[in-house]
Amino acid sequence: KPAAGFEGLKTISYEDIGGLKGELQNVRETIELPMRHPELFRKLGIDPPKGVLLYGPPGTGKTLIAKAVANESGAHFISIAGPEIISKYYGESEQRLREIFDEAEDNAPAIVFIDELDSIAPKREDVTGEVERRVVAQLLTMMDGLEERGQVVVIGATNRLDAIDQALRRPGRFDREIEIGVPGEEDRLEILRIHTRGMPIEGENLILDTRKKCETAQGEEKENLEKEFKILTDEVHKNRESMLEEFASKTNGFVGADLAALAREAAMRALRRYLPDIDLDSDEIPQSVLESMEIKISDFKN
Ligand code: ATP
Repeated sequence: KPAAGFEGLKTISYEDIGGLKGELQNVRETIELPMRHPELFRKLGIDPPKGVLLYGPPGTGKTLIAKAVANESGAHFISIAGPEIISKYYGESEQRLREIFDEAEDNAPAIVFIDELDSIAPKREDVTGEVERRVVAQLLTMMDGLEERGQVVVIGATNRLDAIDQALRRPGRFDREIEIGVPGEEDRLEILRIHTRGMPIEGENLILDTRKKCETAQGEEKENLEKEFKILTDEVHKNRESMLEEFASKTNGFVGADLAALAREAAMRALRRYLPDIDLDSDEIPQSVLESMEIKISDFKN
């Protein structure tokens, strides 16, 4: 699997989310379960939730969770940003919201993800803007109009829970709230593992090389190479893990987005080391350069 962050929506799965185990379980029970098995809710005579609010600091994985749950439950996914609705479609915001909900119902099961919900729906008493007021009213209308089958769910994300209109937080609307907080050390380690997953870190190429040799070797030579391969794999894995553990312990306060940036930065540092070997005017990068490229553990350090 490629390192997270370099992949499109199509491939985002629960495995791309580090930490947040309880939160993810909660989201799955609240959104995925009713979407996949509405009969459970019908049998018990309860309405599945129409709206779920994910709240917490920026970069902690709210969008990631919404995409993953849509993917894993096979739901159509529509993502909009609050400010975009307000500004981009000036004068047509309500129409745009209607279209989004129509698209969702036509393609149900579907998830409508509204990022920065607070900007689309600030507390009405705070607001001077007529547009926001009308958009809130329209959103309420759309959510109230959703059939009670759990086949269209709205996920709202916000950094400021207290800025969300109370009317939006009533039963039948965004009535589930799930906090997505700053990760602790264990969770940071998981996130770092995910973001370095597809990276050729020091030793990786030697492992690949040895494996290739194993394939063609025979007899005693093959046995020896296989032993070497195993020892090498363990050692490289151990080095990599201890480097990540060190990072996890030193990055108090970092959120997922910060950790992703840290991994990307290491890769960029490695790339800059190879630049002198690369002829920028040539159309092709020599295979030998590509094959030798590796990210050193020290690329992570500075
Ligand atoms: P915002 O409030 O700014 O919209 P957000 O909480 O929606 O932030 P995301 O967009 O989900 O944050 O995260 C940004 C990026 O950070 C993700 O694409 C991913 O690369 C990385 N990331 C954040 N949290 C995690 C996590 N728990 N596990 C793995 N990667 C993460």
